[in-house]
Amino acid sequence: MELRGKSVCSGYSMGRIAIYDKSETKVVRRRCKDAQEQIDRFMSAIAKAKEEYEILYNKALKEVGSNNAAIFKADIVLLEDMDYIESVINIIRSQGVNAEYGVAVTIDNFSSMLSKLDDEYIKDRAKDIREVYNKVIEILSKGTSVSREFKEPVILIAEDLTPAQIVRLDKTNIVGFVVSETSSNSHTAILSRSLDIPALIGVDVYGYVDRDGNISLSETVAPQLEGKMAILDGYSGRFLVEPTPEETEIYKKRIEKEKKNRELLNVLKGKKTVTRSGKEIKLYANINNERDVATALMNDAEGAGLYRSEYLFMEREEAPSEEEQFKMYRRIAESLGGKRLIIRTADIGADKQVSYIQVGEEENPALGYRGIRISLDLRDMFETQLRAIYRASYFGNISIMFPMITSVDEVKAIKEIIEKVKKGLSEEGYPYKDCKIGIMIETPAAALISDLLAKEVDFFSIGTNDLSQYTLAVDRTNNRLQKYYNPHHEAILRQIKMTIDNAHANNCSVGICGEMASDTDIVKKLVEYGIDDISVTPTSILVVREAIRELA
Ligand code: PEP
Ligand code: MG
Repeated sequence: MELRGKSVCSGYSMGRIAIYDKSETKVVRRRCKDAQEQIDRFMSAIAKAKEEYEILYNKALKEVGSNNAAIFKADIVLLEDMDYIESVINIIRSQGVNAEYGVAVTIDNFSSMLSKLDDEYIKDRAKDIREVYNKVIEILSKGTSVSREFKEPVILIAEDLTPAQIVRLDKTNIVGFVVSETSSNSHTAILSRSLDIPALIGVDVYGYVDRDGNISLSETVAPQLEGKMAILDGYSGRFLVEPTPEETEIYKKRIEKEKKNRELLNVLKGKKTVTRSGKEIKLYANINNERDVATALMNDAEGAGLYRSEYLFMEREEAPSEEEQFKMYRRIAESLGGKRLIIRTADIGADKQVSYIQVGEEENPALGYRGIRISLDLRDMFETQLRAIYRASYFGNISIMFPMITSVDEVKAIKEIIEKVKKGLSEEGYPYKDCKIGIMIETPAAALISDLLAKEVDFFSIGTNDLSQYTLAVDRTNNRLQKYYNPHHEAILRQIKMTIDNAHANNCSVGICGEMASDTDIVKKLVEYGIDDISVTPTSILVVREAIRELA
């Protein structure tokens, strides 16, 4: 059975499912003659709860750092809030009831009042209040909160996990968190990232579908899930319950690769990507969105060599505005902290269609209306994107590149548009930097005229994914043709060599950003040919660095 969620901490994990058991304490209403005795019980329970939160704070400080631990300081402040304390005392006195009941009614009153307000922050606070005062009830009822110990790796699933619950847990064998709660700013999200435990949020964990397709629904986390084997994919958001042997095999390999990466990270983090004879290669990451930046940095990328900006244009009703794009590009550039960011303008079309651009029926979409062809036709959209990129350039180290180039004329047309955009921004008083301009070499035409193109631009980036499909006449999305899709084909290697030579003869730098660059067998050739930079998926960075550092 496959469930889906949103990843808030990437990574893979495999283990048995354990359902988090809140075991909330039931509260009964009892009449008590001695109100003062109940008030004293209540006040000493508050004091005890504060002590426990102090302990949690100190534990969190060690586990997740001071910023995240601050949540517990806020909880202590809640325990000191006179509005709550007075309300509980009032109920105990006026109704002559036990302290537990006074606390329970107070929580209900306040949290139902707060949760009606249309403010996410206050709603979150309402949850915190419930959590903190449930603790007080637990102490009053002499409840113990011994955390469950796990003897083997488990993926913990819950409706929601509060910070206190997470910190109290013995996390030695917890390899993943899966919750149905949906906010990326939720505590589960923040703490799982700090603990570096893969986590998914927004997963519908209330149903269970057995192998025969029978569905059982539940109001809490489906109890049938307990103890089942599962795989959490913190990159794609998949949560596989009772995975097939094939899925298990695939993920075992991925986990192995990830583990190797982590080991490499310890050894290679901060090291240069340099051959033994001293040739340095810049090693960048391919990214598709803001979230990938974190993975790129975690894997020690020296920058982002290909940001596929079209992902910002997909799965929506209209193109993103200049402002939205500017903010996104600026955020990504700033998160890279001065490292280079190469933004590729939207490569829409072929397998990346968007609903608001009608390309019409195409017999051969991959050979069709895509990339720069669309941009040069839809001038407004193109200029908007360039304005956004140039405005963001002021805040980072941005270069721009263009996809699907086949002629010098296209490049000349682009450069004219860039000049117009820059002029417009200057007149409007926007600051910007002079970005380096590059093009993708991903059609045989571009490779064959790379001597001419190199005179026009600052850099090339060889896109072997498309270069292979166009050179070898193999649709890259057609599974039946996989055996013909061979980026190591001599025809591809020759074009790469030729492109590098032509670039260097014309003072143009050249990188590669197709998938083949993460194949360590090919890396040696690329370095021999004189490649200047290599951009790969974030998780392949360190493997490539290791391979390069072993070259003569
Ligand atoms: C390529 O074609 O090699 C490339 C990197 O671009 P994309 O995969 O986005 O087409
Ligand atoms: Mg391409």
